[in-house]
Amino acid sequence: MSTFKTIDDMDVSGKKVLVRADLNVPMADGKPSDTTRIDRTVPTIRDLISRGAKVIVISHFGRPKGQVVPEMSLKPVADAMGTALGMDVKFATDTIGDSAKEVTNAMNNGDVAMLENVRFHAEETENDDAFASAMAAIGDVYVNDAFSTAHRAHASTDALARKLPAAAGRLMQAELEALGGALGNPQKPVAAVVGGAKVSTKMEVLGNLSKKVDVIIIGGGMANTFLFANGHDVGASLCEKDMADEARNIVKTAAENGCEIVLPLDVVVAKEFAAGADNKVVGIDEIPSDMMALDIGPATIKDVETRLEGCKTLVWNGPFGAFEIEPFDKGTNAAAQAAARLTKAGTLLSVAGGGDTVAALAHAGAADDFTYISTAGGAFLEWIEGKTLPGVAALES
Ligand code: ADP
Ligand code: MG
Repeated sequence: MSTFKTIDDMDVSGKKVLVRADLNVPMADGKPSDTTRIDRTVPTIRDLISRGAKVIVISHFGRPKGQVVPEMSLKPVADAMGTALGMDVKFATDTIGDSAKEVTNAMNNGDVAMLENVRFHAEETENDDAFASAMAAIGDVYVNDAFSTAHRAHASTDALARKLPAAAGRLMQAELEALGGALGNPQKPVAAVVGGAKVSTKMEVLGNLSKKVDVIIIGGGMANTFLFANGHDVGASLCEKDMADEARNIVKTAAENGCEIVLPLDVVVAKEFAAGADNKVVGIDEIPSDMMALDIGPATIKDVETRLEGCKTLVWNGPFGAFEIEPFDKGTNAAAQAAARLTKAGTLLSVAGGGDTVAALAHAGAADDFTYISTAGGAFLEWIEGKTLPGVAALES
């Protein structure tokens, strides 16, 4: 596992600390409507100010495409952060230049300031070196607490990290430690659950995991493509028939690497993709031609539970069925609750991520008991695809 510096390794007293956060919060009527992202940055900021740092927060917001777009100002976010911290957060109307210097030069130890939306400058997404130098001129050291933007090589996540002493903030640290524990140096056997709609969006996920884990449990619509590739008739189910060769290749690569691919034994079928639609449980050789598989059946649920009981580590991306519409959430709920129960009992380390996965696990009431749930979306997916994340690589020591 690669190593990275954390804020524990940094002398920050009296220093201007540039903290790259992801404060791309949902906004309604000019105010953050959900402060989760702000709240998750607070531990890093509190830690730094308690050690006498001057904390200067940098973030993007929306996609202003290098233009100053007043609706995408971070000012309301700075105010909300002030509320979260219980103190005044100063605001500079530009990320670099006179405004940023004026505001930050007036700071005392323990103060917090926020700079305006870094994406008001086109140079940000271009990873521009001169722009990074202009940001570096504002601070003494750099802390990245934005794992969710670490898959992008932008000036504030990549070039800037190479110009100042750099370290991971608490949130970045927690994410890297959780992910490292799950795939970097995991306790075996390791299981992966890969579900969701389509094989085509998860080819790289499956390819990387088939080399790293002991078993991949496939669920969701993509299981239909694997079943079809194995010669089963999947009726009217969501199925990417043109991906059958790729599915067979994944099974072959997995077998060569000692990784077992597990498919459903039975499924819940319905004629419409709708809540409460008439449905029944059938074996995988009995899917009627006018019906679609929308969830795993009870025999598969049992099988998944038994397999999870035999594992020490679990990485999960993608639901087992159309969890948004009841009763097709049953398989996902049962598997998520089993993983949560085993984690709580201390026999399983469980890490999950993905936009719909986070919603599915919350819907199952299982989210709190997982070891770690990544809300990083794209960055989490690239990480399980085995890719190097530029924002993380820039912190490696
Ligand atoms: P994530 O966002 O966590 O990576 P995905 O976007 O890959 O997950 O998959 C989630 C979607 O897959 C959900 O919208 C869900 O309804 C859909 N899905 C799961 N199982 C099926 C199925 N059997 N048929 C159709 N859609 C499905
Ligand atoms: Mg999704």
